[in-house]
Amino acid sequence: MASPAHPDHFRRRGILFVVSSPSGAGKSTISRKLLENDDGLTMSVSATTRSPRPGEVDGKDYHFVDLSRFKDMVANHDFLEWAHVFGNRYGTPRAAVEEALAAGRDVLFDIDWQGAQQLYQRAGGDVVRVFIFPPSMTELERRLRHRATDSEEVIQGRMSRATAEISHWDGYDYVLVNDDVERCYADVATILAAERLKRSRQTGLIGFVRKLITEGSGEG
Ligand code: ADP
Ligand code: 5GP
Repeated sequence: MASPAHPDHFRRRGILFVVSSPSGAGKSTISRKLLENDDGLTMSVSATTRSPRPGEVDGKDYHFVDLSRFKDMVANHDFLEWAHVFGNRYGTPRAAVEEALAAGRDVLFDIDWQGAQQLYQRAGGDVVRVFIFPPSMTELERRLRHRATDSEEVIQGRMSRATAEISHWDGYDYVLVNDDVERCYADVATILAAERLKRSRQTGLIGFVRKLITEGSGEG
């Protein structure tokens, strides 16, 4: 998907930037910092059948929908990908992503390994997948408790699913440990910056090089 409005030197293809981690490892924290500091990035807001947590805003954190609405969206092909996670359904609405890419923006996805895999199957080289590990399982549990958004039962559910999520680490292009949050954020921002500069994304490059060569040969 070409992105005419990117501030880069050349026109380039938009990036679908996926950040996954076991719940509690810090992907929301890192994503928030990326969005605060990067004007060219749009967050993909997923639809989910789970209930809002305290403080979560409909349309901002998620589009909270009931099961019947979710099923309609699946039937209408409204999702780029969707999956069952923690007994609920989560999906990436297609239209918002396509609009953002067409407007020359890159899109950030906080989705699980199933979503990362499905997006990669659809958009291949336009997808960049980053996985964030916690420094240890003890620290992961501490962060989940400290976040204080979940019941004991939900925390135990998240801990038991964390190992399954971690076992899909090899489906990612980059893996990082979120020990120091500033360091981890800086690494994720560096990955995004480098991926934006990849030759394969620079769709305006051939025309630019042709012009340079013409100028160099005195024909310009
Ligand atoms: P996720 O989105 O992966 O579920 P969060 O970003 O909500 O995780 O982080 C879980 C909790 O851990 C939050 O309370 C957050 O402030 C805290 N946290 C995130 N990164 C770190 C870090 N590097 N060190 C200590 N606490 C962290
Ligand atoms: P939470 O309920 O903690 O917000 O999210 C639970 C898990 O669902 C996280 O691992 C998150 O990345 C994942 N998730 C959120 N939205 C989507 C989505 O649209 N698609 C997929 N495949 N996973 C999602």
